[in-house]
Amino acid sequence: RREDAEKAKSTDNLRAPVICVLGHVDTGKTKMLDTIRRTNVQDNEAGGITQQIGATQVPVEAIKERCKQVKDFKPDELKIPGFLIIDTPGHESFANLRVRGQSLCDFAILVVDIMHGLEAQTIESLKLLLKGGSPFVIALNKIDRLYNYTSNPRKDIYEHLKSQPQNTQLEFKERYEKIVAEFAEQGVNVVLSNKNTNPDEYMSIVPTSAMLGDGVGNLMGHIAQTTQTVYANKLAFVDELDATVMEVRTIPGLGTTIDVILVNGRLRVNDIVVLTGSDGPIMTQIRELLMPAPLKEIRVKNEYLHYKEIKGAQGVKILAKNLEKALAGLPLFVANTLDEAEYLKEESKAQLSKALHSIKKK
Ligand code: GDP
Repeated sequence: RREDAEKAKSTDNLRAPVICVLGHVDTGKTKMLDTIRRTNVQDNEAGGITQQIGATQVPVEAIKERCKQVKDFKPDELKIPGFLIIDTPGHESFANLRVRGQSLCDFAILVVDIMHGLEAQTIESLKLLLKGGSPFVIALNKIDRLYNYTSNPRKDIYEHLKSQPQNTQLEFKERYEKIVAEFAEQGVNVVLSNKNTNPDEYMSIVPTSAMLGDGVGNLMGHIAQTTQTVYANKLAFVDELDATVMEVRTIPGLGTTIDVILVNGRLRVNDIVVLTGSDGPIMTQIRELLMPAPLKEIRVKNEYLHYKEIKGAQGVKILAKNLEKALAGLPLFVANTLDEAEYLKEESKAQLSKALHSIKKK
């Protein structure tokens, strides 16, 4: 069936790339997420940003809105349906999760504070990304802290930087060059995204102010263009399931639930799923697929919308029996037949021993 799924794969039908935000504490990871979430979309019904389980879904309309001012950006050529951004910034372990040898995170934003340069956790995140061969972009954040900087989130960041006072431009240049050298020390070539003519050799840097919104359009435009061209093949939607358990939670009134990131494929109510538990494989049936109600409504705590079916990439809460011993960080499978269920139970046992093995190694 995997072969059939591969054959049906088409780069005309892309899923949203799964994006992680990494970097040292206080560089502005949370602020960046907040700012992206606050994108004003004209037609709210069609294009509103929605908070999902453990992730934020940024629809294509919101990307277009943010990228309006970005030079050379062609909104009509957008092929991805949006982004799925993982909400827990700095969730290193998530960026490290792999399914069939591939990182679960399709693209990462590595946030660096322009005033501080590379810090301990930046280097750790960088190593993790390089080790996993995960593509990423560097957000050179807090440019508003440059001396005499004036903000304009409605302009292309590179055009805007040119309009800054001479001393501000000079300070930017000096800090930028210092950071380029710090990356070089780590063996990584980096260059501003608008100057990057060789993306195989050079990683791109986008100057941003997560606080004021400057450069956020350029950042989103860069991610959209890069993921849908260079990584289109990885983003082709396939009906083969690729899902990972992120959290196991007990919710008053609901019981034990699992929060799952569905990267590819579909999940349906009544599907028989197999996942890894601390006492061995768990086989259970999906009772409910839940997502939070949209942000614009006043949110009643624990109010969820119920779905019959969801399609990757999305974040969802699953309600089912016997989830108490479920383990996070491992894949979830759907069994279509009894034979398949038996096979998947074995697979799930193997996943557990692999996970235990890697914990022991640490
Ligand atoms: P995190 O630890 O990486 O998630 O960092 P936060 O998003 O919590 O930001 C840490 C601090 O830096 C907060 O006080 C933010 O308001 C501030 N901050 C974040 N981004 C910017 C920015 O672009 N400019 C300035 N001046 N401050 C920022």
